[in-house]
Amino acid sequence: MVRTNYKTINLPFTMKQFNVPIIYRSPLIAAVKNKRKAADKMKKDFTPTLLNFGNLHIYVARHFGFCYGVENAIDIAFKTIEENEGKRIFLLSEMIHNPQVNADLLDRGVQFLQDTHGKQIIPFQTLTKDDVVIIPAFGTTLAIEEKLNAIGIQTAKYNTTCPFVEKVWNRSEQIAKKNYTVVVHGKPTHEETRATFSHAAANTPTVVVNDMKEAIALGKYISREKSAAEFYSEFADRFSEGFDATRHFERIGVVNQTTMLASDTQAIADYLKQVMIDTYQLTENNIEDRFAETRDTLCYATNDNQSAVYGLLETTADLAIVIGGYNSSNTSHLVELCEEKLPTYYIDSAAKIISANEILHFNFHTKQELTTNDFLPNSLPIKILITSGASCPDAIVENVIAKLLLLTGAEKSLEEMLLSLQ
Ligand code: SF4
Repeated sequence: MVRTNYKTINLPFTMKQFNVPIIYRSPLIAAVKNKRKAADKMKKDFTPTLLNFGNLHIYVARHFGFCYGVENAIDIAFKTIEENEGKRIFLLSEMIHNPQVNADLLDRGVQFLQDTHGKQIIPFQTLTKDDVVIIPAFGTTLAIEEKLNAIGIQTAKYNTTCPFVEKVWNRSEQIAKKNYTVVVHGKPTHEETRATFSHAAANTPTVVVNDMKEAIALGKYISREKSAAEFYSEFADRFSEGFDATRHFERIGVVNQTTMLASDTQAIADYLKQVMIDTYQLTENNIEDRFAETRDTLCYATNDNQSAVYGLLETTADLAIVIGGYNSSNTSHLVELCEEKLPTYYIDSAAKIISANEILHFNFHTKQELTTNDFLPNSLPIKILITSGASCPDAIVENVIAKLLLLTGAEKSLEEMLLSLQ
């Protein structure tokens, strides 16, 4: 069954226009998005757009593709390259989780200092104060910032940290000031969760949970069903320095990585709240004494894209194609939602559609790329749902559609479709 989860997030600032290289843009997708935006300024309609190519019906989600933080990061990174000719330019790690964008930056001479899991590729000791280091959209830890500043590198100048990530850090700080321990729902090795953990831990005891299974495990320490001593081994590497499991679960608040599945974070927060109620015999009147009521800290793009997938899934179709980098957290959650309803193929480029019979796609559960044959149905029209993650250029989505048109011998061309949208 498809869950419905439409909600509107108010932005804390006016959306800026960014300078994003034309190679990432798509005239077709821009026309679709502009048409929908003009008809639905308040973003209330989450139904998909049908692109009817005759024998092929493509349903594109109401919201997908580059978000504010990604456009901001791309704008700053390309400007930094232009303005610093002759200087060595480094990115702390992948700027966003998209292979094409990262490859384009590497082509322009940018070098990565760490991989996505924080493993050092180029030692910090080799850097000098004349080098430029770009902080990615996920932000970074205070320890890394300090290391770079100690070398004389100005991290503030080329910082692409998304304001929605900073919003989570601010929320943690607010919770910390009221003496709550912060529970971060996020992927422990993801750059953003590591950064959020570091910022929260600077102010208050902090622990990370990856999923509901871990939230249930954590609940056993809150309720004292398990001893504090066991906590340190079960949650090794997940808690801040000096964490005292005998005291630091007495008041808690939950924040999350901005790209988690909304329903998962809600379920985890509800579960931990119930554990606090049961452990301390709380009522709705005094729950705030022990549990900080925070709305989820998902960003607007995660909400829009997930809500648009719920809208997309109300359409009956043969299959779904979700496009994005294989290490992209927000994309994997869109895949997770689609998989519940229909055959879903997670690809990172049009090249993964090998032929009308064969597709190479990523299984994010097993972290393997698989080949599926006969992925297209025999009956016409073929109906395909399409969406993409927040770090995926629209140009890649257009390439995927173009490849499908070619392989299915579609009755209408991309150009004719574009004309009909204008
Ligand atoms: S997905 Fe959200 S938090 Fe992440 S970069 Fe985009 S807008 Fe920012």
